[in-house]
Amino acid sequence: MSGLPAEAPATPEERARAVAEDFTRLYGAEPEGVWAAPGRVNLIGEYTDFNDGFVMPLALPHTAVAAVSRRTDGRLRVHSADTGEGVVTLDVAGLRPESGAGGWAAYPAGVVWALREAGHEITGADVHLASTVPTGAGLSSSAALETVVALALNDLYGLGRSRPELARIGQRAENAFVGVPCGVMDQMASACAAEGHLLHLDTRDLSLRQVPFDLAARGLALLVVDTRVKHALGDGAYAERRAGCEAGARALGVNTLREVEYARLPEALDRLDDPTVRACVRHVVSDNERVRRTIALLDAGDARAVGPVLTEGHASLRDDLRVSCPELDLVVATAVEAGALGARMTGGGFGGSAIVLVEAGDTAAVTKAVEDAFATAGHTAPRVFPAVPSAGARRLG
Ligand code: ADP
Ligand code: MG
Repeated sequence: MSGLPAEAPATPEERARAVAEDFTRLYGAEPEGVWAAPGRVNLIGEYTDFNDGFVMPLALPHTAVAAVSRRTDGRLRVHSADTGEGVVTLDVAGLRPESGAGGWAAYPAGVVWALREAGHEITGADVHLASTVPTGAGLSSSAALETVVALALNDLYGLGRSRPELARIGQRAENAFVGVPCGVMDQMASACAAEGHLLHLDTRDLSLRQVPFDLAARGLALLVVDTRVKHALGDGAYAERRAGCEAGARALGVNTLREVEYARLPEALDRLDDPTVRACVRHVVSDNERVRRTIALLDAGDARAVGPVLTEGHASLRDDLRVSCPELDLVVATAVEAGALGARMTGGGFGGSAIVLVEAGDTAAVTKAVEDAFATAGHTAPRVFPAVPSAGARRLG
C-alpha cells in the first residue's frame, strides 16, 4: 500500500470512471454506482471526541472511491486496488465481530454488519475501491473507507439514513468489528464536511456548523506534513488515554470531561491525585477551550491568530497527554522557528501527520526547513502537501 500519491492525480470523475472500469473487469458487470469519501485533518480539538467534546476537522481532496452493486444471495465481495490482495468473499449473515473478517476487509464487512445490526436488510454487495488517502498517516483512510461503503449501501438499498447516522455506523464498525476504540470525528468529517469549510462539531449530539475557511483569500496556507512514521505503541496508548479521561470524569462526578468548564479547571485539577489522570483532564478541558478560541478568532476574521493556539495545543498533546513523538515535535519546532504562524500534530499521534499554518509566501521556506531538519536527523523524508478544505462523501456516478 506504499506509493500512494500525496495529491489526487486525476479529477474525481476520471477516477470514478477508472474504478468503475476495474469493477466491471473484476466482477463481469457494470457497477450500480460510484461513490467517494475523503480523508481529513483536524485543525484543533484532539482526543476530545470520545469525551463528548468539540473538534474542527476539514476534509482533504484525497478520497476513497468505491464502485458498488447490490447482491441478493447474501454474499459480500470486496476488493481494493491498493492492497495487492484478491477478492475477499464473505457471507453477510455470518458476519460477527468475534469471527474476525481479518485484515482490511474488516472495514467494509464491519459497515455491512453495523447496518444489519441497525435493522437494515442488506442482502449482499460487490465492492471495488481505490483510495488516494495515505494509510496509517493519521489522515483517516479507515474512516474514508467506512464512509464510502456506508453511503453507497445507504443509497443503493434506500435506507434513508442521515449523514451523521452513517458516521455512527462507520464508527460502530470500527469500534466493535475492527476493534479500534476511535471517536466519531473522522467519520463525521468524511460524511459531513463541505468544500471550503471547517466542520465545527459538537460530538455530544453531533450538531455541527460549517465554518468558512478560505485561507488563500487571506494569504495563508495550511500544510499537512506526513512524517511517514507509525509507532506500534500507538494502539494501546490510545486506549490508555481514553481510560485516563474516563477515570477523570468519574473522579469529578461528571458523565464526560465535556462537562468540566474551562474556568473551573484549576479547581477540578485540585481534586485529582493521579498525575496521569490530571494530565488527561487538563488536556481535554483546555483543548475544548482552544476549539472555542479558534472559532472566535475565525468568526472575528483573525485567522493568523489561530497559529499560536495550534502550537499551544501541540504542547498539551506532547507534555500532558504524551501522544506525540520526536518526528512530530521536530516538525512543529522547525516550522515555528522557520516562521510558521503555528503548528501541531493532528490525529492520534505517535507518528502520522502534523499541520502547519503559514503565510502563503512562506510555504516553500517552511517546507524546506522541515525537510532539511528531517534529513539532518536521519529521518525518512516527510511528505508535505496543502490541506485544501474539500467536499465530504458524495455520489460520483
Ligand atoms: P488511518 O485511518 O489513519 O489511515 P488506520 O490504521 O486507522 O489509519 O487505518 C488504516 C487501515 O485501513 C489499513 O491498514 C487498511 O486495513 C485500511 N485501509 C485504508 N485504506 C485502504 C485501501 N485503500 N484499501 C484497503 N484497505 C485500506
Ligand atoms: Mg483510522
